[in-house]
Amino acid sequence: MNVEHILREKGRDVATIEPDRTLRDAARLLTERRIGALVVTSPDHKSLGILSERDIVRAVAREGAAALDHRISQHMTATVVTCTSRSAINELMEIMTARKFRHVPVVEDGRLCGIVSIGDIVKYRLAEIEDEQRALREYIATA
Ligand code: AMP
Repeated sequence: MNVEHILREKGRDVATIEPDRTLRDAARLLTERRIGALVVTSPDHKSLGILSERDIVRAVAREGAAALDHRISQHMTATVVTCTSRSAINELMEIMTARKFRHVPVVEDGRLCGIVSIGDIVKYRLAEIEDEQRALREYIATA
């Protein structure tokens, strides 16, 4: 199974923000959208990095509430690990576990076309396990 299966269900919308906005703006947007990360993009839609709630917490812990007025570009991660819609879900689980992050943007032909979170993967895996159990029960009942 690959990332396309998840995107088909959740859609391809990605919450983005520009790098010269503040951490306060990012915190508001994360709260409004009830999500954990934003892809940082330029006005011409180029991906420049990723900012997660963890980056905001880290900035405030280190520098106090004044960090909320800092620009996002000061605290985002600029080297972003991405996948494509053909990437295997198992591979994504391994990457998230090994690299200790919970979001992977989906990029195709240089264009941002979705994002997969660890929550999406857990939801997908649960549905998959339920399907497997149902198939096994049916098999046993008809054997
Ligand atoms: P997260 O677990 O996604 O909240 O992110 C934890 C840390 O990893 C934060 O510093 C993020 O900026 C960074 N991060 C999140 N996703 C990615 C990614 N796909 N590639 C590189 N860094 C990431």
